[in-house]
Amino acid sequence: CGIVGYIGNKQAADILIDGLKKLEYRGYDSAGIAVYNGEKIKVQKYKGRLSVLEEKVKENPVQGTLGIGHTRWATHGAPSDINSHPHSNASGDIVVVHNGIIENYMELKEELEEEGYTFKSETDTEVVAQLLDYLYTGDIVETVQKALTRLNGSYALGIISTREPDKLIGVRKDSPLIVGVGEGENFIASDIPAILKHTKNVYFLENNELVILEKDQVTILNKKGKAIEKEIFEVNWSI
Ligand code: GLU
Repeated sequence: CGIVGYIGNKQAADILIDGLKKLEYRGYDSAGIAVYNGEKIKVQKYKGRLSVLEEKVKENPVQGTLGIGHTRWATHGAPSDINSHPHSNASGDIVVVHNGIIENYMELKEELEEEGYTFKSETDTEVVAQLLDYLYTGDIVETVQKALTRLNGSYALGIISTREPDKLIGVRKDSPLIVGVGEGENFIASDIPAILKHTKNVYFLENNELVILEKDQVTILNKKGKAIEKEIFEVNWSI
């Protein structure tokens, strides 16, 4: 029920877990992070409190400056380690966190199974990761845009891929997602408290807007895929 994403020069794992703590008020039953370590994306995810995840990450630290994190409020599939987010494609090089519900996930799942895809979890979200693999065009942003035309329901998504590790993609429809703009680092999150320690400069994404975060750049595309200028909002409260 909460999303945090980071791209920059700092260690992502700490920032993600700290950000998720600030979103605890939204409620959750499991938590996880995915961090790109320069070679592959390492996923750690567990049923239970954030402290469970935090302990495991302490025992098994991951270095890397790109990552996404998630607290889950299960809607499809019971709370479990496997059903926790992030979810990935079979090769683990496209990784997704999701808040919301993909209403037509069954239909998509059946279609992908016919194409030879197998599923590890019972979630609606895993369908998104596998669909991105299936539709991959050689360009991750274009692939996400293509996938969105197939998804019904509500979503805030955070997506990373080793195929383009200089990017973090966010998109939303009927689930909240904001963008935090830093210096040499950028963020996505479900809500402002998750990023307020790092920046006060925020974009509020509207439905169907997609954001591409790079370390030094934020690009927002409208539903038609056209880059748009948005007004930046300066948060004038602190935590
Ligand atoms: N529908 C997804 C799931 O059950 C996401 C739930 C959420 O918003 O946390 O895994």
